[in-house]
Amino acid sequence: MATRVVPPRIFKNLRYKTTTTKTLNSSHPSAAAAVTSTVDLTPPPPPPSSHPLSSLDLNNAERLFSAVPTSTLVRSTAVLHATAVGPMVDVGIWAMKSKLFQMGIMKDAVMAVTKKTFYEHFCAGEDTVAAGRSIRTVNNAGLRGMLVYGVEDAHDNESCDRNFDGFLHTVDVSRSLPPNSVSFVIVKITAICPMALLERISDLLRWQEKEPSLKLAWKQDCLPIFSESSPLYHTQKRPEPLTSEEENDLELANERLQKLCEKCVESNMPLLVDAEHTSVQPAIDYFTYSSAIIHNKDDNPIVFGTIQTYLKDAKERLLLATKAADNIGIPMGFKLVRGAYMSTENTLAHSFGYPSPIHATIQDTHNCFNDCSSFLLQKIANGPGSLVLATHNIQSGKLAAAKAYEIGIGKVNHKLEFAQLCGMADALSFGLSNAGFRVSKYMPFGPVEMVMPYLLRRAEENRGLLSASGFDRQLIRKELGRRLKAAIF
Ligand SMILES: Cc1cc2nc3c(=O)[nH]c(=O)nc-3n(C[C@H](O)[C@H](O)[C@H](O)COP(=O)(O)OP(=O)(O)OC[C@H]3O[C@@H](n4cnc5c(N)ncnc54)[C@H](O)[C@@H]3O)c2cc1C
Repeated sequence: MATRVVPPRIFKNLRYKTTTTKTLNSSHPSAAAAVTSTVDLTPPPPPPSSHPLSSLDLNNAERLFSAVPTSTLVRSTAVLHATAVGPMVDVGIWAMKSKLFQMGIMKDAVMAVTKKTFYEHFCAGEDTVAAGRSIRTVNNAGLRGMLVYGVEDAHDNESCDRNFDGFLHTVDVSRSLPPNSVSFVIVKITAICPMALLERISDLLRWQEKEPSLKLAWKQDCLPIFSESSPLYHTQKRPEPLTSEEENDLELANERLQKLCEKCVESNMPLLVDAEHTSVQPAIDYFTYSSAIIHNKDDNPIVFGTIQTYLKDAKERLLLATKAADNIGIPMGFKLVRGAYMSTENTLAHSFGYPSPIHATIQDTHNCFNDCSSFLLQKIANGPGSLVLATHNIQSGKLAAAKAYEIGIGKVNHKLEFAQLCGMADALSFGLSNAGFRVSKYMPFGPVEMVMPYLLRRAEENRGLLSASGFDRQLIRKELGRRLKAAIF
């Protein structure tokens, strides 16, 4: 791609046009950092909760990106456009994964390029200090942060313990930051319980669903994990009971999670459990729901589960879990997502000779997300419980915002949070925040190498010209064009 050199005079004007705007509105840590360093005199906007709800305007690029420095918009547009070029993403993914690039000088070069581009765009920093800084600046821009210790799957107790310490430290860091600047601490159960054990627990839970007479001595009270339509093909034959060593590991994993929940209760910091692929999701739901029963009290859910609405059984499971929570009188928190493991799910189902557990069409997924969202909005408006709508989909954002206006959520309570990934769908985040909703950015932190699998998923997700980042790319381009014109004329 040819690079044009912008004359210094124009670049200065571009910066000027940017820094004289009034509203701080950058969601990205580095963007916000740049903003705060250049426009320190601008007072931060009032917290989103005190905004009156106004209409959701996603067309005014100038207003949406008003405080994002031109340099950051240029970087964002470069990263988002690069990830929209399929072959370029293929080469990038190959370089990040390739053994050839895992050593010596090649590795250093790949890491350095990744860090300056994808990493700085999608992540909050290398450690808790950097992540804390990013959260503060995001918060100054009117948004909040979900603090995500960016580890991936663990396979033994040693790595689970290491990851657990990281999650605990994340709660400490969130406590040290300005009140309400961190909305949630995120935990991945696959990082604090060995994967093989999660698969075994999931197998046993599935078999119990097939044969309710199966006794699982280790099983604690929990909400329903399956519905009648849930696929159980992963478990083809009756699994052996857990060995004493496995039971011991389960106890250790449970201890880690309970300690983390207790720390969150002490800090009044909600803990959001991420959803993963269906091989292990029953065990993840088991841990989530059994912990929610212990720690969610009154009208204050501490433990939140995640429902992936691309799954055909999502709505039925959600209805069953909410009904059971109501019956035992615990407030439940849910995050709704579409789901990020499509190809893994399709491949797995195919390998067993079963149809995919994912809706046959994308429209069915959209309908399922919007139905579940509408159901939960209505539910939290009338009773206990909280909801996180984690989506970049403009239509879903608009529908949910309209429903929330209609039933008064947001004005009087803080039970609804919208969320987008750091570096993605910034226009939607700013638009929802400007309209008076609480909005968080999901902000993973950790060394580049550690968050590499996360970065690869983001590169994959934004792949292709019609990908999720299309709307942002278009708006950023429009705003850059406007600034360029304003600087020249
Ligand atoms: C804050 C946050 C937290 C998240 N946490 C999780 C998590 O815990 N677990 C998890 O799995 N994901 C998680 N995700 C990712 C999420 O599941 C989606 O992958 C991502 O957000 C894209 O969905 P969208 O709602 O933004 O919708 P869109 O931008 O509209 O994306 C739709 C995408 O859905 C996919 N899709 C779904 N169903 C179908 C279908 N039937 N046919 C074809 N394509 C289909 C396609 O890939 C398509 O690109 C999270 C996302 C956010 C923003």
